[in-house]
Amino acid sequence: MPVKVVEEWLNSCSGCEISILNLGDTLLDLLPELNFVHIPVLIDHKYYGQTGESDVIEIPEADIGIVSGGVRNEEHKHVLEETRKKTKILIALGSCAAHGGIPAQANMYTNKDIFEKLFRGSPSTDPASDPNHPNVPQWLDSCLALDEVVEVDVTIPGCPPHPDWIAEALTALLEGKTSWSLPERSVCDTCPVIREKKSAAGPVRRCFENLEFNPEEGLDKMRCINEQGFLCLGPVTLAGCAGKEGVPRCIQARTPCRGCFGPIRKGARPMVDMMGAMSSVGLDPKTVVDRRAIMNRYIGGHGNLRPLPARPARK
Ligand code: SF4
Ligand code: SF4
Ligand code: SF4
Repeated sequence: MPVKVVEEWLNSCSGCEISILNLGDTLLDLLPELNFVHIPVLIDHKYYGQTGESDVIEIPEADIGIVSGGVRNEEHKHVLEETRKKTKILIALGSCAAHGGIPAQANMYTNKDIFEKLFRGSPSTDPASDPNHPNVPQWLDSCLALDEVVEVDVTIPGCPPHPDWIAEALTALLEGKTSWSLPERSVCDTCPVIREKKSAAGPVRRCFENLEFNPEEGLDKMRCINEQGFLCLGPVTLAGCAGKEGVPRCIQARTPCRGCFGPIRKGARPMVDMMGAMSSVGLDPKTVVDRRAIMNRYIGGHGNLRPLPARPARK
């Protein structure tokens, strides 16, 4: 008997769902064992009836719930809570669901400031009022990861998550396991570049300059990006973005890791740890432009990003 699955998307760009499709042939192998009973990204199903005639949200019962995207508004929260009630195992798919993701960058500002900027403060925008019509889901005070709202059983991080891990996690659940996780290793642990544990001290270089490498040579001949003086978040980011192949994807492309797989373990403080890693090779963390946003780029949930108190005006 196939396992019933619901797949819901909240504050999501649908890249996570594309990753499910990117399972390719593996998806075809798994499909006979999976019965998708609800997947709004593929079928035009309205949560409150096709013409809005129902007062009750319609999500069927299932064995597995897969949810992508963070929780930004009241409707996302309601869909998530209902999915949790209706499913035995809940999977947080992707870094938005796991950590807030890119949308949680907005957590650095109050909703009032964001609405002011979007609806009135931009020179190219005709002034309008805030979107507070009763038919529009109201924003929460911040963009949350799923486990800030409900209990999550399995987390598959990444922006987007790698299809290998989606397949591995689903296979584990189909075998009757109730949990799955990636090993706690950093991107650096899977990176083949040369490391000398020192860099040219000074301000962090920005990616307006090219990295130093010879395109004719392999990565094992390139010097560590941090040690070249650029910011690479590999030391504080969970490994796995290249799936079972190993070498991190951005490093393959000779660009710095931006942290899209999130922290190596729950409860880590990547910004603090990254400042330590930079100092250990002689880089000055204070010279990273927009440091708070850059070092928490994908992990603004869990209180990592929040509005700062207004500074007193200079006299
Ligand atoms: S984790 Fe990335 S791919 Fe997935 S919904 Fe968020 S932004 Fe899109
Ligand atoms: S800091 Fe970046 S380039 Fe250096 S070892 Fe780690 S992942 Fe590789
Ligand atoms: S190297 Fe870092 S930013 Fe790039 S895909 Fe991997 S985890 Fe994501």
